[in-house]
Amino acid sequence: MATSQVLTREAETDETEVFDAVIIGAGVSGLYQLYKLRELGMKARVFETGTNVGGTWYWNRYPGARFDSESWTYGYSFSKELLDEWHWDEHFSAQPETERYLNYVADKFDLRRDIQLRSRVSSAQYREDTRSWDITLDDGRHYSARLLITAIGVLSAPTMPRIPGVETFRGQSCHTAHWPKEPVTFEGKRVAVIGTGATAVQTIQTIAKDVGSLTVFQRTAQWCAPLHNARIGEEEMQGIRARYPEIFARCYETPGCFVHSPDPRSALEVTPEEREAFWEKLYAEPGFGIWQGNFRDILIDPEANALISDFIARKIRERVKNPVVAERLIPKNHGFGGRRVPLETHYYEVYNQPNVELVDINETPIERITPAGIKTSDTEYEFDLIIYATGFDAITGAFDRIDIRGVNGRRLKDEWKNGPQTYLGVLVEGFPNMLMVMGPHAGLGNFPRAAEYSVEWATGLIRHARTHGITRIEATHAGTERWTEHVKSTGVGLLANDVDSWMTGINRNVDGKDTRKIMRYSGGYPAYREHCDAVAAEEYHEIRLE
Ligand code: NAP
Repeated sequence: MATSQVLTREAETDETEVFDAVIIGAGVSGLYQLYKLRELGMKARVFETGTNVGGTWYWNRYPGARFDSESWTYGYSFSKELLDEWHWDEHFSAQPETERYLNYVADKFDLRRDIQLRSRVSSAQYREDTRSWDITLDDGRHYSARLLITAIGVLSAPTMPRIPGVETFRGQSCHTAHWPKEPVTFEGKRVAVIGTGATAVQTIQTIAKDVGSLTVFQRTAQWCAPLHNARIGEEEMQGIRARYPEIFARCYETPGCFVHSPDPRSALEVTPEEREAFWEKLYAEPGFGIWQGNFRDILIDPEANALISDFIARKIRERVKNPVVAERLIPKNHGFGGRRVPLETHYYEVYNQPNVELVDINETPIERITPAGIKTSDTEYEFDLIIYATGFDAITGAFDRIDIRGVNGRRLKDEWKNGPQTYLGVLVEGFPNMLMVMGPHAGLGNFPRAAEYSVEWATGLIRHARTHGITRIEATHAGTERWTEHVKSTGVGLLANDVDSWMTGINRNVDGKDTRKIMRYSGGYPAYREHCDAVAAEEYHEIRLE
């Protein structure tokens, strides 16, 4: 078979349009995957639900949405020209700029002609006879492709809370991930926010200055730390451009692909004075240093973790004037860093405003949403606007929403009922020719840095298949078992795995998501890449290639 025809599909006799590859999602990873498949000369189509590209940065247009990663570590690294052209306005860019950036990328590399917007994939069914995937959109259109590549993100399936009466509310209401494109005004309005995750923190600190009144309904307090954002001038941007190779090399070395990496010292081996000085320094610095660049043992040793938790608790007490409110804002059921740390800008000070109230719904649970507002066990609140910052069915949720069926009609959702099982976070046994970019078990971190590697590794596998006449790619049973067990072993001893959060697969607004699972590779990106590179170097020996 001629090289160029391997992994390509002949046109079928009916009206079904046929592609070499279908990519689901036009976000950070889907855009780059399309770019890379074009390099291989493949006929690819991206299906995207939104009316424009951008994924996370298209949907999450809530007030205050912005990076917690340094902007200059977040852009694509593959094109020097792009790096030279783009000026990041801020060290932690806001959503409109990032959305603009991803649109710029789509235009610059002429990606749009292969992106089909307003196209939600509702099902994908593997066909053994043609070794291809039948793909159906929710409007009934059908397509066929040799390869199915999921680039559907980690946090892309928003969930509403299971509170009775949500549909009865007569005012305006909205989930943060479905924020309207039309401007929403807050002036004089009585606003409720349900949730206190990273999204809620950004929303609350942004709208607090405008609202008539704000009531925050908190179920679990969060350990937040300052973001310390700043604008980037032309001269500074020039300096950043000159340092890009160094910056990306640094991100490549760190466990989470950030510029921050753990300090090799133990929190317990230094004097209390040294510890305090180090933590004061980290607290005053921009970004995730306090979480990702802290003493090496704060996320694994309960004693070290208790010390840093105490430090952050003291900061909260200093910043929040009312001691009762301060205590409510200090987490009691998990230590610092056990959940993804929200970075904030004057978040705690919001609670010093006389028009802001914090309701702990463990003390006074929400009973229902009423036509006028929210009824807790002791108060009936009236609101003009309710904001649901209630998070996502993370990591596997976006997969569950598509009816993905592999060999013999096996459903991916059923296969993963007790937690994902993957090979390298890329392949799933029984689902041949399906490749996941940033799938479960591939680790979490500074998303584009990890996604670029994920896309490049998947592209390497596709290139290998094309040059070797391979039309069927599938994870082996042994490889899957080994990888899944290895992923579990990387999480042993990590305090975060003993905490309920989206990272451990908990979302009580979704059936079956109430027990903790190992959803991500926790061995750090350098080790993850070492595994994946070794598999590629040995001609993908653990993958069944036919
Ligand atoms: P999240 O961290 O899962 O937070 C959801 C919040 O809603 C939690 O406080 C949760 O309480 C609450 N909640 C859910 N269901 C509820 C219910 N039925 N009743 C009352 N409260 C309920 O979601 P998120 O804030 O959207 O953030 C998710 C992730 O997105 C972040 O961790 C981060 O990785 C990413 N993100 C990144 C950025 C950035 O880069 N700057 C910004 C925003 C988000 P419980 O905690 O008790 O479940």
